[in-house]
Amino acid sequence: MKIFCVGRNYSEHAKELNNALPEAPVIFMKPPTALLKGKDFYMPDFSTDMHYECELVYRICKNGKHIEPHFASKYIDAITVGIDFTARDVQSNQKKKGLPWEIAKAFDNSAVIADFIALGDVGNPESINFSMEKNGVEVQNGKSIDMIYPINEVISYLSKYFTLQQGDLIFTGTPSGVGPVAVGDVLTGYLEGTKRFEINIK
Ligand code: ZN
Repeated sequence: MKIFCVGRNYSEHAKELNNALPEAPVIFMKPPTALLKGKDFYMPDFSTDMHYECELVYRICKNGKHIEPHFASKYIDAITVGIDFTARDVQSNQKKKGLPWEIAKAFDNSAVIADFIALGDVGNPESINFSMEKNGVEVQNGKSIDMIYPINEVISYLSKYFTLQQGDLIFTGTPSGVGPVAVGDVLTGYLEGTKRFEINIK
């Protein structure tokens, strides 16, 4: 199982991190060991600036390669909301040096996913709303329609380089409002207004 992530896929978030808008999807990956089990996220000791990034996550339902965008919807069957935890201080350091991001993005427990729901059960799959609260206050709110690269284009692009396999996950990028977490914080994620996860920062 592979976990793909898209960076800078919402223009307001690219602006808040002073990144240029991408000319092609920005792709990175997390290993299966990045998936958080349970509801507690323990702050690792290698970062003093751990950020949440709340994102829509799609699940691949069949194997494919060189998928055209207009066939891409046949390759996903479920969606949820999750968190791409990012050691922002480590990432900034790596970016400055032009080095890869893995130690800032792909570490153990850096990928949170709620239970998946079938795409057929989502009211309007073209414009899916998601949001996250930190300690009961909304900090992020996004709509799939605002993605710079919509899921069909992401699938097509990924499949030029990687064979997509059943069970692979795609984190589709975060809207604006990313920020730090501290021990004691509670992060609550919503998909279409329904609570999907609650994560305790330990
Ligand atoms: Zn992200």
